[in-house]
Amino acid sequence: MSRTTVATIHLGALRHNLARIKALAAPAKVMAVVKADAYGHGLERVARALNGDAEAFAVAALGDGLRLRAAGHRQRIVVLSGPDQSGDIAEMQRLGLDAAIHHSAQLAWLAEASASRGRLRVWLKIDSGMHRLGFAPADVADVHARLAAMPGIDPDIGLLTHFSDSEVFDGAQTPAQIARFNAVTASFSGPRSLSNSAAVLGWPDARGDWVRTGGLLYGLSVVEGKSGADFGFRPAMTLSTRLIAVNRVGKGERIGYNGTWTCPEDMPIGVAAVGYGDGYPRSAKAGTPVLVGDRCVPLVGRVSMDLITLDLREAPQAKVGDRVTLWGPELPAETVAAQSATISYDLTCGMTRRVLFIED
Ligand code: PLP
Repeated sequence: MSRTTVATIHLGALRHNLARIKALAAPAKVMAVVKADAYGHGLERVARALNGDAEAFAVAALGDGLRLRAAGHRQRIVVLSGPDQSGDIAEMQRLGLDAAIHHSAQLAWLAEASASRGRLRVWLKIDSGMHRLGFAPADVADVHARLAAMPGIDPDIGLLTHFSDSEVFDGAQTPAQIARFNAVTASFSGPRSLSNSAAVLGWPDARGDWVRTGGLLYGLSVVEGKSGADFGFRPAMTLSTRLIAVNRVGKGERIGYNGTWTCPEDMPIGVAAVGYGDGYPRSAKAGTPVLVGDRCVPLVGRVSMDLITLDLREAPQAKVGDRVTLWGPELPAETVAAQSATISYDLTCGMTRRVLFIED
């Protein structure tokens, strides 16, 4: 394991971000979305940091719910994809997890759920226009009636949908989804949950009773051209490493695999100990900003498995051992993501096992 490349998780930032989401979303309550190992920040670490403040957690899969219960968390935990197989139902009842029900196959499994194990809390997932998971609006009344008739199901059935474009604040898709969801749920009384992070920022009509925020919790944004900090959130991860070589390279020489970048003059090239083997995106283009100390310099050449190369002309004092920051409070992950044809969530989720995680 490399001890050079370090992901520092800022626990105070996580708490700040949750408090800010709560203030924005009130009176709706907040599910802290901690799927995908808390967007790469570490499930148990994040849950522990938020334990006193989070009213509920949301995870993608049963296994994450199990981990949270094993770590002693007693809050409501919603499994966003629900049971994946019939055997999951009894396990969810045992663990007291909420299940999102999105498909008729799950209804058949649920019909066998016995109330003797405790009543399972469910969220009926409605496809209001994303066409990923959920029942079509035309089927919702029937599914709701079937769930309500099952003795193993808590009668307070939640109503859930997910937006495809909520970060497009002037778009027509989100209002259309809200309208469809409202129309199809008007006659039901259960708790409602529509909003992800971007919807909390841009669509106050969609608050419902619970918002489900992941990105903003980690100080990340998917709003084009904006970082989490632009909305008052703090990045919860800093990825850093060290310079391990500084070389003088002559004019016209090509840098790295396939020589995709050519030195325009004799110049210093820095080599930092991070690459796609750590989760730094291989797709990062030449020009992607990197901090050497407090100097911002451009990435040049291809990202390798273990190394990146940097144009150090703007950091002439840089030397072996200097700290190199790939993203964090001083360099938004959104900026790096934009240079890599991806989103900041993808970057933090992509940390590999050789990255050392520490907390501050
Ligand atoms: N709800 C569902 C169903 C999701 O799949 C996700 C994440 O993709 C979220 C909520 C949280 O989204 P965000 O991280 O943008 O807040």
